[in-house]
This record gives sequence, C-alpha cells and structure tokens, in this order.
Amino acid sequence: MMYRPAKAFIYLQALKKNLEQAQALAPKSKVLAVIKANGYGHGIERVAHHLSHADAFGVASIDEAMLLRQKGFLHRILLLEGLFSESEIPVVIQNRLDVVIHSEHQLNWLLNSKISIQLNIWIKVDTGMHRLGFDIQQLASVIAKLERSENDFCIQVMSHFASADETSEHSNLFTEKQIERFEDCTCQYQYPRSLANSAGLIRYPQSHYDWVRPGIALYGAGAIPNSDFTSLAVMQLESEIIAIKTIQVGESVGYGNTWVAQRKSIIGVVAIGYGDGYPRHAKTGTPVIINGQRFPLVGRVSMDMITVDLTDMSSQANIGDSAILWGQELSVDEIASFSGTIGYELLCGITQRVPMIEV
Ligand code: PLP
Repeated sequence: MMYRPAKAFIYLQALKKNLEQAQALAPKSKVLAVIKANGYGHGIERVAHHLSHADAFGVASIDEAMLLRQKGFLHRILLLEGLFSESEIPVVIQNRLDVVIHSEHQLNWLLNSKISIQLNIWIKVDTGMHRLGFDIQQLASVIAKLERSENDFCIQVMSHFASADETSEHSNLFTEKQIERFEDCTCQYQYPRSLANSAGLIRYPQSHYDWVRPGIALYGAGAIPNSDFTSLAVMQLESEIIAIKTIQVGESVGYGNTWVAQRKSIIGVVAIGYGDGYPRHAKTGTPVIINGQRFPLVGRVSMDMITVDLTDMSSQANIGDSAILWGQELSVDEIASFSGTIGYELLCGITQRVPMIEV
C-alpha cells in the first residue's frame, strides 16, 4: 500500500527506445549500457532487464555486478573503475567480469596473479580527463606486459571524455583533442577500442569506435544539444497537492520567510521534498506542472513538501490534483539547472521512500 502520493513512474518502453536509438546512431559499434548507481537511480535490475539487448553493462563495483549475476544476467559486465583491491580477483574470475585497469597497481595485481580463465581487460588511457587512466606514453608498455603474461588477457583499450556534452568552443576543441590523442595512441593496435559516452555517441560520430558507452542518454536526460537523438525521459516524478491556502500581500511562505507575496496569492502545497530526493536548493521559479500548466515553486523546499504559486491558474486548484516535478514534459535537466546541479544527480538521488512504479 502506498499511502503518500509521491511516486516515480518508470517508463520502460522509453528506456528500450533510447537503447534502440543509440544502436541506430552507432550501427557499427557494440553498446555497453552504463547502469551503475542503481541504474542511474531507476533500479538496476529493472533497467538491466529492459536493456537486455545491450552488448554489455557497465557498473561501478563488484557489488553491482554480483546483483546482476545473482538475477541471472549473463551479459558481459564491465567494472568501470576496475579493482579496488587485489582480493577481488577471485570474485572477478568466478563471475566472469570484465575489468578496467587504469593504473600500475591494478596492472601488477593482475600480472602477479594466476588467472585460470581468459579475462577481458579494458586498458584505460588518460586523454585529458586527468582522473583515471594510464598516461598515453605508458600504453605501449602496459600492452606489452599484458601480452607477455602467462595469463590469458583479452585486451580492449578505452578512454573517457571530460566535456563532450558542453558546446563552448573550448569544450569542442578539447573533445576533438581527446579524440585525436586516443586515435594516435591506439591506431597501431588491432584491439577493440571505446571512447564515447552519451555525448560522444550523439555529438561525435568519429568517437564511436568498436564500443560506445552511453549512460545518461538511455535515461532520457543529459540535455545533449545539436542532436537528432530524441532521448525520451524514463523517470517521471509525481505527487499531489495536499493543501491550498490564500495569503495576503506581505505574508511569507515556508522556512526562513524567504518568499514574500507581492500580491494576494494562492499557494499549493505539494507532497514532495528533499527527503524524497527533490533538490533542497531548487530556486524560487523552478517549474512544477499542475493540471498541465507550469507554475513556479516559491519559498524553500522542505523535507516533505514544496510550495507552489498557483495564483495564475486559469481553473481552480483542488486537493489531490497531480503535480509533475520532472518527467516527459519537464526535463530533469531543467529542474537541475534551477538548483545548481545536473540531471544525473537528481535521478540518482531519489530516496527509498519513493515507490517506483513501472509503466
Ligand atoms: N563511460 C565511463 C567510463 C563512465 O564513467 C560513464 C559515466 O560516468 C559513462 C561511460 C557514461 O557516461 P554518460 O552517462 O555521460 O553517458
């Protein structure tokens, strides 16, 4: 029984269609669907199930990978950050996981272990992100060491974009530089290559290589411009009006008295708050859809409630009217921009108490 009206509807057909669009956009590449962080907050198992046509999954840890294996998924599963400790190697072998190696210590763990199966290794090179990855100049020696090993390593080479989703001249040039560096350091090898995240997939066809690795675009977010890829929103966060009140000029609403009515105002109280994952820092003016029309959030976001200025509503608002916080007509990226964050964070941040309803 779900007593509180806050709910996240998960549109599984949209997820499937987004994957199909990704496959159509990079027809020569395989797709590794990134489903880490509980499927970007949508529920890893349901997401994996509806992305089962992907060629592989990408996760952040063995815990996430094991969850998938326990549910019977036989896909290749890549640990995007690789091993956190040498002790993970037996689990990787047992569960037939693919691993990223991004630095010397991980390389040594693998070279110094006796590995009884063929292990898929994704060597990560740093083409400019400067977070994880071997320096470009190290690639040749890493490959040589893996090739010389008695273990049977199946090699692929990858890198990751820093700003392919940003459209400034500087970001465009930076991304092109990353592609050029990747091409230069990998072109002499026959190993499968992977560079593109969602933004690379959509904006840089020359970055598709053998594997594309979309995450956010599969969930209908990321606001990646210049695209003919219509990424459909997968999550719609909804709740209802639970109180309506009229306040006089000069009266304030909510904690801290931050918003003061400049006219006699009708305020709708919606049952959603930061305790559900709605952003605490959403500014006054953040849109909320009620009865098909957008209205501005006013005052501070509380743990369980927000307040919305309904004064300009053409019809009368009623208790129980539905409120859409983000979803198909109101992108999560737009809401994120009103609270100084990104859609990724909002999607990942939906809390346990919000029931997810598959549509
Ligand atoms: N590849 C790697 C290595 C990542 O870490 C991520 C996500 O952070 C992705 C691909 C997917 O990125 P996006 O969600 O921007 O498509």
